[in-house]
Amino acid sequence: TRVLDVAGVRADFPILERRVHGKPLVYLDNAATSQTPRQVIETLSDYYSRYNANIHRGLHTLADEATAAFEGTRETVRGFINAAEPREIVFTRGTTEAINLVANSWGRANLEAGDEVLVSLLEHHSNIVPWQLLADQLGIVVKVIPVDERGVLDMEAYRALFTERTRLVAVNHVSNAFGTVNPVREMATIAHAHGARILVDGAQAAPHQRVDVREIDADFYAFSGHKVYGPTGVGVLYGKAALLEAMPPWQGGGEMIKTVSFEAPTTFAGIPHKFEAGTPAIAEVIALGRALEWVGGVGLEAIGAWEARLLAHATAAVSRIDGLRILGTAPDKAGVLSFVVDGAHSQDIGLLIDQLGVAIRTGHHCAQPLLTQFGVDATCRASFAAYNTLEEVDVFVEALERVIGMVR
Ligand code: PMP
Repeated sequence: TRVLDVAGVRADFPILERRVHGKPLVYLDNAATSQTPRQVIETLSDYYSRYNANIHRGLHTLADEATAAFEGTRETVRGFINAAEPREIVFTRGTTEAINLVANSWGRANLEAGDEVLVSLLEHHSNIVPWQLLADQLGIVVKVIPVDERGVLDMEAYRALFTERTRLVAVNHVSNAFGTVNPVREMATIAHAHGARILVDGAQAAPHQRVDVREIDADFYAFSGHKVYGPTGVGVLYGKAALLEAMPPWQGGGEMIKTVSFEAPTTFAGIPHKFEAGTPAIAEVIALGRALEWVGGVGLEAIGAWEARLLAHATAAVSRIDGLRILGTAPDKAGVLSFVVDGAHSQDIGLLIDQLGVAIRTGHHCAQPLLTQFGVDATCRASFAAYNTLEEVDVFVEALERVIGMVR
């Protein structure tokens, strides 16, 4: 494995030069959004400076160049997650839209009243609410895979939840609230043995570990550009070609049709364009491709190993703080440290630690059902990326101790 050159990585991120309240920025809110390397910023700027044009329909040079760069990114994404074909890659606004696409297209075509969808207690609201909406609209039943006191999925309970009405498992690869890495490959095998499909929410996995959708045997896999060093407003839905082909369109409009008529039925484009109605986030898609190349250049193994070191260092240090409880103690965890402190509100900690230049997240992390089970309505969450350093972790822990001293 390559070793990560953290100084070299940091040099790619202009924002890390910033000061906040007079202090050097220590950015530990990477699970919410990652920072953007200058190569990605330059790709956005280059697009608008040199070849901004709408794609697919134009016959002029700029449209050709934009189309080539946009479609070229499909191949980059295919390689990044080892999909079989570029047409299995659908560009969306993000993970949320990708999941809603599956719910509204695949879901409405394949589910009826009484059918069951399994989601886990670890899910982000974006992988809960679309299924609840379908439950209201179609009468499907949403069942919940429980977790143990470490925040690990109960696999016995998972197996026991299947019935002949189970049609889909919707589960995250890595939990944003606790960092738990879920055994999605094993979960896929079990789902398929029961004739069910599996959708994997990879929003928190794609930035931290190599993803191979064919090895997982995921039917659908979703992730967001802005969490993997890319821009906001763009994400990916991977779907197996045969599944995508059989699915009806979701949003209608330009780009997704073959022919439109008032006299005869409108016909639709093939995949993936059938699912990309309207002008997409062209610049952002192209820049996402650059972000994935940047990640490949640093190496996901190196990034994952470095973040594991940061997490271990931070976990050991905060464990010495009196009255601090870590939520999420799975043996297999990504770089997420969620905790609560006796006698100190998470929100107060978040506000005060910001005064010391440290950005962490506080709140329910869009995982209210999970936090409720753990008896809290908010946690503090520090989450790591390739550019964070052991020194920054020390600054964070020292700042945390100061803040706790102030509020207690
Ligand atoms: N799933 C998980 C696990 C996430 O962490 C997030 C973002 N916090 C989402 C889904 C939603 O992603 P987005 O807001 O980019 O659509």
